[in-house]
Amino acid sequence: MAQEEVIEKVVSGVDRDAQAIQDFFVRMLRINSVNPRMGGPGEMERADFLESFMKGNGLSVARVDVEDSEAPGGIRPNLSAKLEGKDRRRNLWYISHMDTVPEGSRDLWKTDPFQPTTRDGKIFARGAEDNGQSLVASLFALLTLKRLDLSLPYNVGVWFVADEEFASNYGIKQLLRRRLFTGSDLVVVPDSGSPRGTDIEIAEKGLLWLKVTTKGKQVHASLPAKGLNAHRVGMRLAIELDDALNAKYRKRDNLFDYPVSSFEPTKKEANVANVNTVPGLDVFYFDCRVLPVYSLDDVESDIKRKIKQFERRYHARVRFEEVEKEPAGPATAEDSEVATLLSKAVSRISKVKPRFVGIGGQTVGNLFRMEGIPTAVWSTVDDVPHEPNEYSRIANLINDTKVFAAAPLLRSA
Ligand SMILES: [Zn+2]
Repeated sequence: MAQEEVIEKVVSGVDRDAQAIQDFFVRMLRINSVNPRMGGPGEMERADFLESFMKGNGLSVARVDVEDSEAPGGIRPNLSAKLEGKDRRRNLWYISHMDTVPEGSRDLWKTDPFQPTTRDGKIFARGAEDNGQSLVASLFALLTLKRLDLSLPYNVGVWFVADEEFASNYGIKQLLRRRLFTGSDLVVVPDSGSPRGTDIEIAEKGLLWLKVTTKGKQVHASLPAKGLNAHRVGMRLAIELDDALNAKYRKRDNLFDYPVSSFEPTKKEANVANVNTVPGLDVFYFDCRVLPVYSLDDVESDIKRKIKQFERRYHARVRFEEVEKEPAGPATAEDSEVATLLSKAVSRISKVKPRFVGIGGQTVGNLFRMEGIPTAVWSTVDDVPHEPNEYSRIANLINDTKVFAAAPLLRSA
């Protein structure tokens, strides 16, 4: 069969199923799966619902249940299913998460967040966009490929994971530890995106949050020489760090909307309560987002060196703590197979010109890149995750189902 014909089959197959896909989506969204670390019931009921649907449709389901004594039922489920392709050692994976954040203040919702409401081509519910739309789209992409019995270049599969909204400790991190993915796999994480589906995210910045505590000596402000003003030392240190880091780590990468690394002094803890006291303690924080070409360890050793200089110069004691440190894996190449396939499928199905982007935030895509697995983050969404009145556009649900089904078929185009 010519490739064009195969793609037409996929497109009309998904169109025929459109109402069933939408109905299934609504049924799934009725099941509350708020992350148990955020006070919810967890993923169990939603996972059982998905598993029986998948089995009922002839998929064989692999399940990785991770123990979690703090979750209702004590289990955090992860589900997977795949279709075999010619090369059975490689897999194209679509990875989405079953858990959601809580609904937040009910007053801000126009409808019940767990009674999905369809209006103006949108389905409103908690978890509709994040990450229900992509979960259902990837599942029906797989079912479409199965029903049409098309020949696949390699295995194509889905993972529905737990705990993405908290820390992925019972989800992706467990699966990576169990070596369920390899460097020859192609991974798509459809958990972030853009309204027209143009943006294919292939790189993220490394993240470093640091806290710097300067100790001096507190005295009455009329006799400053008796003490050591920690606030003055702290302010100077913050400014010098700001200048030094921005001057040294200045490479540009136009893939990113903010194309350079950022080093921002942000939070400042309150010191003394009154004007006439010289503060003996100063605490400030930096938010650093570093292009993946740089190592966070290098950034840290520069910071430590500067701190040592300050301690000698001012006879103050300065302590440095990492509040958060998430290095970035290497960017996925624009000509990697996963980026190429997705880009072809997006231009063919969504009829937009895709562009590759990098972001300053981090997704679970980074966990795969850290393991050397090329990963693309993509979906068509209005970008309303975690908001009240979260929704998914039905047109995006159907479109993305077609994109996911078409991608592995566009291999040698
Ligand atoms: Zn998400």
